[in-house]
Order: sequence, then structure tokens, then C-alpha cells
Amino acid sequence: MVTRGTNQQSSAPYNRRIVLDVIRRQGSMSRKEIVDTVSLSPQTVANITRDLESIGLIVSRRLKAEKSRGQPPIAFELNPRGGSSIGISLEPGRASAALVNLVGEVLKRREVEVDTHNQRKTLDVMVGIVKDLVARSSSTERLWGIGVALPGPLASTDISFVGPTALEGWTNLEVLDELRDTTRLHVFYSVDSVAGALGESLFGVAKSLDNFFYMHFGVGLGGTLVVNRSAYKGANGNATEIGHIPIVPNGKSCYCGNSGCLERYLSLQSLSEALGLSEIADHGRGALPQLLADKDPRLMAWCQEAAGHLRNAVCVVENLLDPKTIVIGGSAPKALVQHLVALAEPLHRSVRGGVALPHDRIVLSERQEDSSILGAAVLPIYEMLSPRFEVLQQDRRSELNVAGLLGQRSSPRAGRL
Ligand SMILES: [Zn+2]
Repeated sequence: MVTRGTNQQSSAPYNRRIVLDVIRRQGSMSRKEIVDTVSLSPQTVANITRDLESIGLIVSRRLKAEKSRGQPPIAFELNPRGGSSIGISLEPGRASAALVNLVGEVLKRREVEVDTHNQRKTLDVMVGIVKDLVARSSSTERLWGIGVALPGPLASTDISFVGPTALEGWTNLEVLDELRDTTRLHVFYSVDSVAGALGESLFGVAKSLDNFFYMHFGVGLGGTLVVNRSAYKGANGNATEIGHIPIVPNGKSCYCGNSGCLERYLSLQSLSEALGLSEIADHGRGALPQLLADKDPRLMAWCQEAAGHLRNAVCVVENLLDPKTIVIGGSAPKALVQHLVALAEPLHRSVRGGVALPHDRIVLSERQEDSSILGAAVLPIYEMLSPRFEVLQQDRRSELNVAGLLGQRSSPRAGRL
């Protein structure tokens, strides 16, 4: 999708974000290439690149001189030192976090096991992680805020915060307001699958895709549909929770109260039960690749069954949503996901099968570790780096919430993205 700027006076912040967006997506662009791509006047683009450079979001460098005459052009790139943000991925039993810079590089990582049933302890752990990561960041560096990714569904429903794949026992997310008050940093949060999808969209395998489905394979199983680079939320913010789609008649009972849900067959929790562990954290995900290499019979049997359900799930997602591709990420070891995807071949026929697109039907996240940590870290910078066009176009008032030149949403509560 080519996004164009607008020459209206009131659209300056919008145009700055458009320019920032094309530079990020292309990696490096000359002023002329920006002008040609966003259809703004050369003078406007010159003003914008000067503004963006002056506030440290982009850097310029002169390209190597070619043999032709004249000055070599200047290329603009995102400035890795333009600031950083902290991403925290909360899963049952552990908090994983990272300090991530403006180009998506992980600068520092932390991982702490915590009894997430205890909200207070979980808050203390998050505050400790933030203090530690802040202490390790450069004192002159701008910190855009904290993003927190949590297993869904979050909005108060009958099946929120129930079962071992959710933050069991939580009734609300007020701890995130406390996290903001204690750290004095902006706090954004979202369901882990939404965070993972946005992370892949900004810095990962979905960078060039406007439309894809993200499958979050962690302790539980979640999903997010990205349309025009925005996560589709649904009526109550709980769309595409594929883990609770019933797929096996009279199947295993699920914490949601139904039986035969997909997540009961395709998730690390389901695997841990098959291996006779109470929680996957007991065993450590790190052991799974070795069990896989050893062809552990219980693991092999589980994979055979899970792959069949994955094959069906892919067909359901494709026939229902027709995404360009399905990206699989999450905290499951990559070797395990690769094995499942290979076992799921050949995929069922669907509306996506046979359609010539440059993308495979399934693409795995390239993040070796949990893609939702990166996703969490992009929450504070997502609006700045990837303007949500339809929102900006339909409701200019949302621009009033953007502080400063491009800036941050200033909210009395932790903001959900
Ligand atoms: Zn269920």
C-alpha cells in the first residue's frame, strides 16, 4: 500500500508520520525517493526530514559518490539512538522483558519467574525489571515508555483470566496503572497476540504486509488479524481468540467451560500435560528441542495430533479471513513450531491455496525468542512509527492526543492498544 501525504496545513503531524513510516519500511531513502513515494512537494519533504532529524528520529548519511557528476544524494534512515522502549511479556509463571531501540534491536533482556497468581508480586517484579533496564540504558537516551503484553482475552468476559493459560485470578488490570505511577513512564498494554502481530508488522517478517493473520503459540494459543496494519479488535476487543474455537466434538474439557477447544490440543500447556508436567515452566522450554531431537515418544505422539489440528486451523483462518499469509510467533521454541508446520503439510485446500502471492501460506517469526516481547516494546512507539491511517482520516481529534511533534498519547490510565 502506497501512502500519500496531504498538503493541508493541519496535516503536519500526519505527514511527518507518513514520512517516518516510509523511511522505516524501506530502511533507507533519499529525499527524492520520499517525494516520489508520498506525493508531497520537495519543499515539504525537506522541511519534514529536517524536523525529524532535529528531534533525533532519523539520521542522514551521504551515499557513496557515483562516477556521474554532481553531489551524491543523502539517504535518511531511522536513528537507532532515537530512543528506546521497554517491552514486558507476561505469561503464567514468568515475566520476560527487553529494552528495544527505535529500529527494533534488543539491547538488554531480562527474564524472571514469578507466581503470576499474585498480582502484587507480579507488579513488584515488573517494577524491578523496569528499574534494572532503565539503569542499563544510556542516561541521555529517550525512553518512550513501557509496553505490556498479556494473554487474552482481556476485556471482561466469562472467559477472561481463567485457566492455566491466562493470568488466573486477575480481575482487572489496575496494576498497570500502578506500574505507570511507580515508574513515571507511559504504559501501554495489549493482548500478547496483538503485540506480537504489531512487532512483526513493524520490525519482523510482516514488515511488507498490510494484511496477515498472526498466530501466537505460547502457553496458550491466540490469534490476531491485521488489516491495513491495524489489529482487528471486534465488538468488545476480543476478536480472533482462536484458542477457544471448539474443534473436537466431546473433546477435552476447557477452562472456558466448553470442551474440545483448539488450545487444548495446540499450545505449550497442552504439551506440558501430554508430557506429564503440571506447567511447562516446570520443565523449561529449553528442554523441548532436545526431546524433539531424541524423538521422545510422548512428544512425537502429541505433535502428530497437534499438527492435524494446526492443519485444520490454517484452513479455517484462510477460508474465514483470506489473509496474505499466516505468521506464527510466540514463546514456543522455534524448532517445535517448525516440526509442527512440517507435519501439517500438505495443507488443506482453501481459498488461499493456489493463489499466486509472493508469500508462503505459513511464515514463522524470525525471532528466536518470544516475539511478543518485541511486540510489547513496540506498543509505546507503534502509533508514532506506523500511523493508523483510517483512524487519522476519520477522526482528526485523535491527533489532539498526540503530544509534541509526533509524540505520545498522554493518558490518565494505562492505554490499551
Ligand atoms: Zn476453551
